[in-house]
Amino acid sequence: GLASSEPKEGEENLRSPICCIMGHVDTGKTKLLDCIRGTNVQEGEAGGITQQIGATYFPAENIRERTRELKADAKLKVPGLLVIDTPGHESFTNLRSRGSSLCDLAILVVDIMHGLEPQTIESLNLLRMRDTEFIVALNKVDRLYGWKTCKNAPIVKAMKQQTKDVVNEFNMRLTGIITQFKEQGLNTELYYKNKEMGETFSIVPTSAITGEGIPDLLLLLVNWAQKTMVEKLTYVDDVQCTVLEVKVIEGHGTTIDVVLVNGVLHEGDQIVGPIVTTIRALLTPHPMKELRVKGTYVHHKEIKAAQGIKITAQGLEHAIAGTALHVIGPDDDIEAIKEQAMEDMESVLSRIDKSGEGVYVQASTLGSLEALLEFLKSPAVKIPVSGIGIGPVHKKDIMKAGVMLERKKEYATILAFDVKVTTDARELADEMGVKIFCADIIYHLFDQFKAYIESIKEEKKKESADEAVFPCVLRILPNCVFNKRDPIVLGVDVVEGILKIGTPICVPSREFIDIGRIASIENNHKPVDYAKKGSQVAIKIIASNPEEQKMFGRHFDMEDELVSHISRRSIDILKTNYRDELSMEEWKLVVKLKNIFKIQ
Ligand code: GDP
Repeated sequence: GLASSEPKEGEENLRSPICCIMGHVDTGKTKLLDCIRGTNVQEGEAGGITQQIGATYFPAENIRERTRELKADAKLKVPGLLVIDTPGHESFTNLRSRGSSLCDLAILVVDIMHGLEPQTIESLNLLRMRDTEFIVALNKVDRLYGWKTCKNAPIVKAMKQQTKDVVNEFNMRLTGIITQFKEQGLNTELYYKNKEMGETFSIVPTSAITGEGIPDLLLLLVNWAQKTMVEKLTYVDDVQCTVLEVKVIEGHGTTIDVVLVNGVLHEGDQIVGPIVTTIRALLTPHPMKELRVKGTYVHHKEIKAAQGIKITAQGLEHAIAGTALHVIGPDDDIEAIKEQAMEDMESVLSRIDKSGEGVYVQASTLGSLEALLEFLKSPAVKIPVSGIGIGPVHKKDIMKAGVMLERKKEYATILAFDVKVTTDARELADEMGVKIFCADIIYHLFDQFKAYIESIKEEKKKESADEAVFPCVLRILPNCVFNKRDPIVLGVDVVEGILKIGTPICVPSREFIDIGRIASIENNHKPVDYAKKGSQVAIKIIASNPEEQKMFGRHFDMEDELVSHISRRSIDILKTNYRDELSMEEWKLVVKLKNIFKIQ
């Protein structure tokens, strides 16, 4: 095995906690990772840090060395810390297997100059959904005006070097950000003031450029993990392993990058992703960067958790990022394990709308697909899903989404989360009229789709505007018949409903005779588009058919009520396109008129 797997520091047999870094774009996730990796430590002395597949491993000695100044005299019981290399939500949503998140801990990075941003909140929600502990890195403190650099210093020491103005600005920004977290329902506090870790989340001010606060962050991560997660971190023989990525590597065919969370993997182990196969090789990068020739790896007979590993085997092209990898032991029932592997997929499939009407959702991994589906299902969003896919959007996905064109045009849409769309697929989509929305932030997909739905609604409204009839009942005002015919001009009281330009008007008491459409409305001598119940306005009515001019005094009279001429079709149009524009009372009037007109 690798040195990293030996429990050197303590007697307890703990594995390394696994940590990922999340946060809004440009908050400094990558820089922070570089910084804790020590690439900015003098003379590139990496102190035992090893690059793994998809992760960086920090041995306990390295962490102790770097936190010496904190005088915490840390008794490190874990062999080290495994930090996942791909920052961002992707690495996190990926890292999930069998209902528990793969990461034991997360660093949520917030830019002190910007506070909480959309992706911060998205990350926050993911962390809560997965019930994952996290520490807030309040990054870029060096950008506070007048900040005095104290390279790689513990934060309290660095703060002592600052002027009053810097401290004031720091406190002001910190308070604002604590308030923002509170608005998200979360208590946070500076870590060295935090007396109730667990209830209140800790904030560590950091600079990924000059290194202030990095020792604090490392120590807090490790201490927190070994203090509260002993059970979870206790080494077991059962393999717990998650697929991070499926990749074609020259000379190796399709390989999978996995994180082995617990247990041991051996060359020759029988594994079950969606298919049963045998591990051909267990690979890690060469430890010394200088010697690393691109595409060459160290082979291992066995590897013990926690580790990032590349696996080669037959048939891995069927593997899916985000799923668990199961190992078949000598006494295991292959069928039972295959079934278990299918459950991952099925838990996702069960979120698909049973009616078969909905959008098509495509995501990069099972984990991110799950997160997206969960979001689309939430009460505030409620977008039905009829189909799912993982990986790039291909022509076949467009074909599947295109089925909706016949049923519900707006659902002939692909929401593509963090995946590429092939050129062929794009062309076919344009040809067929399938919409594709791409984003790498879940909220953005929602916003785009919502805007699209609105635009379709508007379009439909415009198309049907002539046929939409709003309900109204009018009474002719005494001494206000200004013109008896061609056009009819009257003063009326809007007794009920809403009077709109274009509304066809008829006289129920005279066998529903049609007298024409409202051509204009004037309120206090000012032209208006509509008049609400209770208003008194002058209206001009123009006959729909010039051959059949109706006349006040002959076809209708003072005592006759005038009402909107509604029909089955006009009601349907109102219902589909104008539902929200009518009040309860106005809908009741529609029902009343429907009875008067004896519409079924
Ligand atoms: P990511 O998108 O979250 O991975 O952010 P990056 O690590 O790429 O950082 C975004 C930008 O912010 C880069 O220009 C970094 O150099 C800069 N940056 C990151 N961390 C810090 C920091 O602590 N202080 C300052 N001044 N700049 C930072």
